[in-house]
Amino acid sequence: MVAEIKSLNEECGVFGVWGHPDAAQLNFFGLHSLQHRGQEGAGIVTNRNGRLKGHRDLGLLSEVFKDERELIRLSGEAGIGHVRYSTAGSNSILNIQPFLFKFHDEELALAHNGNLINAVSLRQELEQDGAIFHSNSDTEILMHLIRKSKQDTLIDRIKESLNTVKGAFAYVMLTPDALIGALDPNGFRPLSIGQMENGAYVLASETCALDVVGAEFVRAVQPGELVIIDDSGYRIETYTDQTLLQICSMEFIYFARPDSNIAGVNVHTARKNMGKRLAEEAPVDADMVIGVPNSSLSAASGYAEASGIPYEMGLVKNQYVARTFIQPTQELREQGVRMKLSAVRGVVAGKKVIMVDDSIVRGTTSRRIVQLLKEAGAAEVHVRISSPPLKYPCFYGIDIQNQKELIAADYSVEEIREKIGADSLSFLSVEGTVDSIGLKFDAPHNGLCMSYFTGDYPTPLYDYETDYMKTLAKIRESKPLMV
Ligand code: SF4
Repeated sequence: MVAEIKSLNEECGVFGVWGHPDAAQLNFFGLHSLQHRGQEGAGIVTNRNGRLKGHRDLGLLSEVFKDERELIRLSGEAGIGHVRYSTAGSNSILNIQPFLFKFHDEELALAHNGNLINAVSLRQELEQDGAIFHSNSDTEILMHLIRKSKQDTLIDRIKESLNTVKGAFAYVMLTPDALIGALDPNGFRPLSIGQMENGAYVLASETCALDVVGAEFVRAVQPGELVIIDDSGYRIETYTDQTLLQICSMEFIYFARPDSNIAGVNVHTARKNMGKRLAEEAPVDADMVIGVPNSSLSAASGYAEASGIPYEMGLVKNQYVARTFIQPTQELREQGVRMKLSAVRGVVAGKKVIMVDDSIVRGTTSRRIVQLLKEAGAAEVHVRISSPPLKYPCFYGIDIQNQKELIAADYSVEEIREKIGADSLSFLSVEGTVDSIGLKFDAPHNGLCMSYFTGDYPTPLYDYETDYMKTLAKIRESKPLMV
């Protein structure tokens, strides 16, 4: 995945199904289409006649379930699954989800996409009260809260716990009697409900996972909602009315698959619109437009269409790079660019090229790609980025929580241009991004979280507040923030 080269990683993908005899296999298919959201570990828990059992391990889904007997062993009528990228908690098998808990009086499995921002303080409180954690993932906290709650029903205990955790979460839970989904009060991460022909219900991080199992989209889970699916169908309850929709804009820009829809907007279309707007905001005279495969191809096609400059295939991606070459270390990631991408000499030699990419994180990948194009003979390389500069950390589930890792936090556009060796460089504006995605909600940025670009976070930062304020003060003291 280019995601691994770029070092900008989504935390996870979740999936769930209720009411289908092939629940384990459907989870496998669903998770397979969500693999781009996390490649470090995967797992499935199923429910057969009210008994929960699971399998999880480090690696890609196909590696975790390479022994097909595992899926046969997990046969059941309902199940949840998870693909993981570790941002909170280390990359250890103990942190691979779904977590399966068997108590003397109940069984419950849990999987999470997102990041809690009060996890450290909650864990301290829980441990002081005698809780013993088995992982260092923030996901386990919810289970301790559910068990500790004195409410009468499981649903009420879950609701109380959801009001205690803060940050970004799309949870799927499995009990002997129900499949449950829950979304945080800002709806940072997408979570959709689908229904299969036989009536089975499906929950998935992205609608592409509904398509792959042949489920029809029913509705998106809304901020502050709980969806409870059992043999009588599905029902929606709320655990809070203090909600404000702020869907992560990076889902549209980079993370989600182009064939997914989020809040009714197709991801490819949003990206293409970003490319079109970028062509209006930052035109340049050139012979061709090329996109960095794969996530930038939609934006590049939009730029070409709006500018009237031909779209060409100036970069090709090698689909068969051994995974071992792409480890999550910066040095290997940089090497990975050469392994993964090649410039097409016959296309770019002697030409003025517009290279469209969706984002610049540290700048190292962009520098390497510009270098590849120049080595292949490109006369000029004009870099156009279909999102604004990434200047602020994300605390809601993307693995960059440190401003030092973001080149745009420290350098002006001109300085970045120089560092990556491009002939010109422009970013899409914040307004252009919001307009291109085209949400129409009555909320800041029309319902999008743009904190990565603006530094305005839609929630208090809880455990991260002090550190963040210190960093911000330091940056403001040393120099004005530059676009
Ligand atoms: S800060 Fe950025 S990456 Fe994080 S949720 Fe908001 S838009 Fe998404």
